[in-house]
Amino acid sequence: MGRIYNFSAGPAVLPEEVLKEAAEEMLDYKGSGMSVMEMSHRSKVYEEIIQEAEKDLRELVNIPDNYKVLFLQGGASLQFAMVPVNLMKNRVADYIITGQWAKKAYEEAKLYGTANAIASSADKTFSYIPDCSDLPISENADYVYICENNTIYGTKFKKLPNTKGKTLVADVSSCFLSEPIDVTKYGLLFAGAQKNVGPAGVVIAIIREDLIPEETLPGTPTMMKYKIHAENKSLYNTPPCYGIYICGKVFKWIKNVGGLEAMKAHNEKKAKILYDFLDNSKLFRGTVVKEDRSLMNVPFVTGSEELDAKFVKEAKAAGFENLKGHRTVGGMRASIYNAMPIEGVERLVEFMEKFERENLK
Ligand SMILES: *Cc1c(COP(=O)(O)O)cnc(C)c1O
Repeated sequence: MGRIYNFSAGPAVLPEEVLKEAAEEMLDYKGSGMSVMEMSHRSKVYEEIIQEAEKDLRELVNIPDNYKVLFLQGGASLQFAMVPVNLMKNRVADYIITGQWAKKAYEEAKLYGTANAIASSADKTFSYIPDCSDLPISENADYVYICENNTIYGTKFKKLPNTKGKTLVADVSSCFLSEPIDVTKYGLLFAGAQKNVGPAGVVIAIIREDLIPEETLPGTPTMMKYKIHAENKSLYNTPPCYGIYICGKVFKWIKNVGGLEAMKAHNEKKAKILYDFLDNSKLFRGTVVKEDRSLMNVPFVTGSEELDAKFVKEAKAAGFENLKGHRTVGGMRASIYNAMPIEGVERLVEFMEKFERENLK
């Protein structure tokens, strides 16, 4: 069995080199006589793995010293709660609603205080990013929250919102490490690993030190305090050891291929192939306004549910997996994360051209 082209939105494709290396080290990690899965998280050898992962990530993203890097668990979804319990001092926060993930974060924040939806693109099925240059930011807002790349709808903030001096918090799950990012623009950003970085079960949070509170909201579980994880260097309890090890390998892979600038060029090239095709196709069309298109998630439709279903089925038979759109929006979606090779997108477009010839009446 060979590997297929996997266009899944997450858990998603990982670099083959990383998987091969992990396979080679599966039974005996560097002479330790055991798998990374089997070793104590307090052992010297594991300490090196997690420390090196953090060091490589810091270099790759150029993370300033006054930001903590935390390897957490609970998925990006737990951050929807961790953010308010840690940061909602005034119990007020502003949310920009650009899709389901932002909406879920907003609903979660409402459990802890007043969450204001200050902008939304729900009126056009989240097919664009609202103008965020002059929003009605709440005077006592503890932070302004965005989902930077909307995995389901395929939109991305190309320009960060004007938060009028308030702390910016961003869910960057599906665009993290796809291009350079200026961490200093954010108070806190977080990413679930399974989109572009590693296996599900790891969440990376990068938080400015002065935002890590001494006191969280009453009743906050210990495991949900950033302070605890920061003080214990992500080893307060047993971390997702194996997942962090794989993330570390992905960081090295990105460094080896030239870092985030190179990753961006690679991703732009891939996305252009697909978007150019969609813009010229007589059968397929992209669903997002051009200026807000994501480099990572590319949703498209034929205009006929029947043809969409036929396409997904025939694509699967031809070795293109997971092209079905999110269950709530239908159509198709090609997720073309860092590890998707350019050939994958070229082959997909060839397949789409063929499908168009055969099905265009
Ligand atoms: C997938 C995803 C999530 C949810 O991640 P979980 O790890 O399943 O909690 C949240 N936000 C974005 C942008 C995502 O793509």
